[in-house]
Formats: sequence, C-alpha cells, structure tokens
Amino acid sequence: MNALEHFSVEQQDRIKQAVHHAEVCTSGEIRVYIEDKCKTDVLDRAAFIFAELLMHTTAERNGVLIYLALSDKKFAIIGDVGIHQKVGDDFWNTIKENMTMHFKQSHFTEGLVYGIIESGKSLQHYFPRAHNDNDELPNDLVFGK
Ligand code: CA
Ligand code: CA
Repeated sequence: MNALEHFSVEQQDRIKQAVHHAEVCTSGEIRVYIEDKCKTDVLDRAAFIFAELLMHTTAERNGVLIYLALSDKKFAIIGDVGIHQKVGDDFWNTIKENMTMHFKQSHFTEGLVYGIIESGKSLQHYFPRAHNDNDELPNDLVFGK
C-alpha cells in the first residue's frame, strides 16, 4: 500500500495547516515526508531526504524534517544545525517519545501534528519571524513513491 493512501485529503490538510500555523511566528521551516518503507537506518534516510528537499538551504539553517516510514514503523525528526545547536538531543527525544505514543495507536495524523506544533514552539522561541519573512520551503506534505 502506498503511504499516500493512508491519509485522507482532510488529514493531509490538517498536517499542512499545522505546518502553516507553526511557521506564522517563526522564520524556521518545517516539512513532513512520509513513505511506506525505510530499508536503511532511519536517521540516514531522514538525512538523505533532508538534503534532497534542499532543507539545508534556509538562511538561518533552521529547517526541521519529520520523516515517517509507515509500514516499517520508523520515524525521525531532524533539525538543521541552526536549530539543533539551540535545542540539542533531549528536545527531539522528548518530542519523539510523545509522537511514538500516538503512532502506536495508529494515530498518525495526530502524532505528526503534535511533532509539528512542538517543533514550532521551539523554532518560534529561537527564531522569531521577521516582518519580511519568506516561506523558504513549501508547507505541503511530501509522499515517497
Ligand atoms: Ca519562513
Ligand atoms: Ca514553509
């Protein structure tokens, strides 16, 4: 089954809106990538996707990627150097623990929205949005093939 088929249009829209709302108060950029299987180490795969989506190109290096492989039940949340040096590993681990609780109940949309909101809070704190902010990376979900 393709990962896309697990999410209704309404659920996809909720996730996209969560990214939009999180970015209203920060220059940081959040993206969500979902695919069915992850055949390699999940962090390696997330880093590969991060680069493929050009997420390292933000001016303040504050992109955050939430990566999920549905069938293989693997996910990762990684931040670029700008945000990572502010928050460190504990921050991501706490978010991941809470996302895992949602995912274990197959509440994928809720888990993703939670991760987006929590990442957004930290980005808003460290990287407040300037009045001339651009949306450097699109807010829509990306589905792997
Ligand atoms: Ca922005
Ligand atoms: Ca964006």
